[in-house]
Amino acid sequence: MRRITGKSVYGGIAIGRIYVYKKEKKQVPYWKTTETDREIRRFSEAREKALKQLQELYEKAEEAAGKSSAAIFEAHQMMLKDEYYINAVEEKIKKEQINAEYAVSRTEEELDAVFSSMEDSYISERAADIKDVSERILSILSGTSKEKRKEKEPFILVADDLTPSETVQIDKEKVLSFVTVHGSVNSHTAILAKTMNIPALIGVPVTADKQLDGKMAIVNGEEGWICIDPDAITLERYKKKQEEERKEREALQALRGKESKTLDGKKVLLCANIGDLKGLESAMENGADGIGLFRSEMLYLGKETYPTEEEQFKVYKTLAETMAGKEVIIRTLDIGADKHVAYFQMEQEENPAMGCRAIRICLRRPEIFKTQLRALFRASVYGKISILYPMITSVEEIEKIQQIIEEIKQELKEKNLAFGEPKQGIMIETPAAALISDLLAEQVGFFSIGTNDLTQYTLAVDRQNPRMEEWYHPYHEAVLRLIAITVQNGHKAGIRVGICGELGSDPNMTEAFLRMGVDELSVNPGSILPMKRRICEMDLSVSAIEKDEKTDLKNQMIT
Ligand code: PEP
Ligand code: MG
Repeated sequence: MRRITGKSVYGGIAIGRIYVYKKEKKQVPYWKTTETDREIRRFSEAREKALKQLQELYEKAEEAAGKSSAAIFEAHQMMLKDEYYINAVEEKIKKEQINAEYAVSRTEEELDAVFSSMEDSYISERAADIKDVSERILSILSGTSKEKRKEKEPFILVADDLTPSETVQIDKEKVLSFVTVHGSVNSHTAILAKTMNIPALIGVPVTADKQLDGKMAIVNGEEGWICIDPDAITLERYKKKQEEERKEREALQALRGKESKTLDGKKVLLCANIGDLKGLESAMENGADGIGLFRSEMLYLGKETYPTEEEQFKVYKTLAETMAGKEVIIRTLDIGADKHVAYFQMEQEENPAMGCRAIRICLRRPEIFKTQLRALFRASVYGKISILYPMITSVEEIEKIQQIIEEIKQELKEKNLAFGEPKQGIMIETPAAALISDLLAEQVGFFSIGTNDLTQYTLAVDRQNPRMEEWYHPYHEAVLRLIAITVQNGHKAGIRVGICGELGSDPNMTEAFLRMGVDELSVNPGSILPMKRRICEMDLSVSAIEKDEKTDLKNQMIT
């Protein structure tokens, strides 16, 4: 039995077998063969198949994001048709009498060396395309295309690190807990784990290798440790604790449907932050007053190409219909920073959190944005959808968005497609937006404060960097003042102000936010009912100072 401590991301107890997640690094098979004709034929067939796949991806991307975004798949097709490339692989097979896989991989290495050494950045970046194309052929040759390891039993996932794209691809029905060696508490991966409402730890110094695979373990999310190979007594103790937690959750169910109102009558909406339809189930189970934040970029992560308008429309329609009249705030895509999507072909940036992220991508590549907006406007016919724009810093951005909205409405009219008039709001997650929230409030229907980024940008602390955590203080006076300014300015203009960043679910802050006048708190579905209980027991008519004095007195009497 071994107990290893890390940092807690989300509480709860998980008990199960470990599944070690390794980033895919394919071993290229190698064999000598005299049947070179057969190998050339295998290569040729794989090439044909790859060309077909790329054509399908091209068509899908063109529909979802326009010709320029689809161009990458065309470029990959051209590479596969290139005589020089084909000859290079075939020559290797013939001369060296090797299998097709090995010849493809060797050709990739050679081309990579040539392209990477070029001064011209455009050409050197083509090395990544060669790699992409070769990997496609290799997976077709090995017949392992997109096969993911399938686990039968629920598991505790242990990994060195997980990117948001990897996290969204994990079988959510089966994962009991996330445990990673690296990572930051404020990263999107950590936030995803919270949304899934399962115990999660980061910074756990384990060796995530085969030796751990299949071992029994207990994860204590509250205390921040994993126990590997627990003895029978420990196992029994934590099974009991898990059962107690389950009963506690069941007891909280009695609060479902009850209004979140303090003893002195201050009402607040308690909504859910989600990223997929599984999250929607959880929001319903926990009696959310609405969806306060649907992170739509999850529809883009872990995919081979852009989701089409129809694909998005279906998801947004389901959200709207399932919530049956309750508000569903869908944030337009917030790709960039730690959320990478290969097919977006973004340029490498020195400082991506401050680079082309979220609304900036949408304004630079309006075809991608328009596809999403058309889907949202169409789906809003089926329920109360609101649209939320991330990373806003200026009034001009809102004006540009409105121009695009006019264009998509025109397009929908021309196609005779029904659409609604969703409310539009913005994230206040940059100090700039908070400071000009008086001006912004005149332009939009609501504010939603993103404290995760607001903290990062106000305090100049990279939320991704675990070594900077001691400087990441969401309680910092500067952050709290920006929140207060935003609430005041929003209310002056008569619009609603919510908080959807992680600070919104911090029980230490609930009372302060209610006193500021925050109208809505959007939190992980699992935090809704415990928060509701806290709010319903709160009395804001007792001043905070009076309360402190009472607590002091009580503490004195106890000691
Ligand atoms: C935030 O920044 O607080 C927020 C809710 O957005 P995200 O965490 O997805 O960046
Ligand atoms: Mg944010």
